[in-house]
Amino acid sequence: MRCPYCSSLDNKVVDSRMGKEGESIRRRRECLKCEGRFTTYERVEEVLPSVIKKDGRREPFDRQKILNGLKKACEKRPISLEMLERTVEDIEKSLQEKGLKEIPSTVVGEEVMEQLHRLDEVAYVRFASVYRSFRDINEFMSELKDILSSKEAKDASKERPHVHEEKDQKPEKLSLPLDS
Ligand SMILES: [Zn+2]
Repeated sequence: MRCPYCSSLDNKVVDSRMGKEGESIRRRRECLKCEGRFTTYERVEEVLPSVIKKDGRREPFDRQKILNGLKKACEKRPISLEMLERTVEDIEKSLQEKGLKEIPSTVVGEEVMEQLHRLDEVAYVRFASVYRSFRDINEFMSELKDILSSKEAKDASKERPHVHEEKDQKPEKLSLPLDS
């Protein structure tokens, strides 16, 4: 590990502790040349299960594809890219926690739906129509549609998706004098 200050490769570990939830080990190091201190993290390489498509073929889990789908679904919603990336991370984490080497595309789809529902109700409802335009993108995308339509049927009793942002939104912050 190269020292960030002087680029020397010689250092010693001065402290070592487990990160939150035991997912990583944090090591405090001291450079033997310049005595600069820095921190390194060691974590298990994340392995995601491969996805079993409807026709039985397997393909690697594609985080970019899911991120792109979420981006589309959340277009013009008050959702930052950072929030979307965190959502993809939550999806990945939840899939990893199942501890499976292979995972049916329907399960991936359900997880995406669940996380999207948590993230934004409007985007969640929009999701189905977004994926219709993809047609060939993936087997699991068409399965998503089925999952959504069954959820929509369940929610049909409620007339409209519940939108709370508008109601609860606080008035825009006035700009500070500094800005003018
Ligand atoms: Zn150094």
